[in-house]
Formats: sequence, structure tokens, C-alpha cells
Amino acid sequence: MQFKEPTHCHLWQKGILTRDDLDFESIASEADDSHFERSVVRCRRCGQRYLFQFYELVNWRDGNDVMTTIYVPVEKDDTESLRTVRALDLAQSTPRLQWEGDTLTWVGR
Ligand SMILES: [Zn+2]
Repeated sequence: MQFKEPTHCHLWQKGILTRDDLDFESIASEADDSHFERSVVRCRRCGQRYLFQFYELVNWRDGNDVMTTIYVPVEKDDTESLRTVRALDLAQSTPRLQWEGDTLTWVGR
């Protein structure tokens, strides 16, 4: 899936991001369990909405669990239709903010 670039958001404009740069408020929680979490959040500085997703693939190849935490910039109207999107599909969409270890990077910027 391809989403619109959130060019007005400070998160998009900044080069290197840290946890301190995230300034989100939660709008709606769509799923929440120990291996899968998804919610709609909004940037406090510009109002841009993001779909937050945490997903853990348990016992993936020799017991190495795969965890991904991402933020996908979405339009207000998108959130309803994205409710049924599979976790793996959303995890492939661009652009997206993704945690890789301690680093927060844009994929597809
Ligand atoms: Zn913003």
C-alpha cells in the first residue's frame, strides 16, 4: 500500500528521529493484545494522523520472534477502511516510520 507523504509534519522533515520527537495523542484503539496492537494516533504539532501498529510474529524461523513497530501516515478518511487490513500488509506499506532497534527511521522517504 502506498500512502501520501506527510510533508508538513516535523517527523517527515527531520533527518534523524529519536523517541523524544514523537508527540502523539491516541485517538482510537483498534486492537490490543500481547502480539498485536493497532491504534490511530494524531501528531500534536500538526494534526497528521498515523496508524500505529505493533506486531509480533512468534516462533518465526528457529524461535526468533520478529517484532515490528510502525507508524503509517494516513488521512482521516482512511482509518475506517484500513481497519481490516492485515498486519503484514500494513507492515509493508510506504512511507512508514519504523523502529529498528533503538532507531526510528522512515522507510520510503
Ligand atoms: Zn506532525
